[in-house]
Amino acid sequence: MSEQTASPVRRDPVASLRQGCERPWEVDIDPFKVAPNTYYVGNSWVGCYLLSSSEGLILIDSTMQPQVHIVLENIRKLGFDPKDIKLLLLSHMHYDHVGGARVITELSGARIMLSREDHDFLTQRPDMLFDFGYPYGEFNVDDYYDDAKPVRLGDREITTVLTPGHTPGTTSFFFDATSDDDKTYRCGLHGGIGLNTLSNAFLKEHSLPKSYQSDYLQSLHALRDMPIDIALGSHPIHVRMLDRVSEIAEDHNPFYDPDLWSRFIDDLIEKAKIEFAKDSE
Ligand SMILES: [Zn+2]
Repeated sequence: MSEQTASPVRRDPVASLRQGCERPWEVDIDPFKVAPNTYYVGNSWVGCYLLSSSEGLILIDSTMQPQVHIVLENIRKLGFDPKDIKLLLLSHMHYDHVGGARVITELSGARIMLSREDHDFLTQRPDMLFDFGYPYGEFNVDDYYDDAKPVRLGDREITTVLTPGHTPGTTSFFFDATSDDDKTYRCGLHGGIGLNTLSNAFLKEHSLPKSYQSDYLQSLHALRDMPIDIALGSHPIHVRMLDRVSEIAEDHNPFYDPDLWSRFIDDLIEKAKIEFAKDSE
């Protein structure tokens, strides 16, 4: 079953994670194109992106082990072979983004990249993976990101920007997508925006520093004025991507919206300020 009208996804992150692991068919959706040579291959709750290049495939995030078969199936539906994945870029060290990484790398031999900050954080705080007991294959990180040195594969280039807050090493991705008729679109993907790990109550409960909140706001301000033609979500709900899938047409890309990125970031800054002002009690 893979209709775009899969069962409604729950808004509570833990309930959604459990739904996606225990009843993956409820979050199964078909893949769709978001930009030239760039595709959404995730499920209705958590994002996963495929970039094709002249030298193989790049995957951004991996969803979770109990549902990673949806990613593999979606890649095949687009006519690609998951064994051609050469690079797996992970946005941040939470189970819903990295839980499928071991499967992807065992299947394809893909090199795995993550930020040094999140790799270190997880070594110190394995309780912050949030796997809730679902199967998790440990994996080796082959390379850390260097924001001064874009990630390259064939004709694709991805600039990374460390955007701490949601986790200490959350990484955002920026890349061009060029069409056959030579039109180039700048795509932006914020690696992790959830305020669930940033509330005063959460930080206190888990003995984490309050500086995560200022890191988060600072990283949003640093991204705000970037010129982005196509804003993508590490969860599709962040920029309401699934609402626009039905508008996809040969001559119309509903994800093209050069005003969306700054609106999205402004909205996050507002929401964060409200959340951070709340008492921890
Ligand atoms: Zn997360």
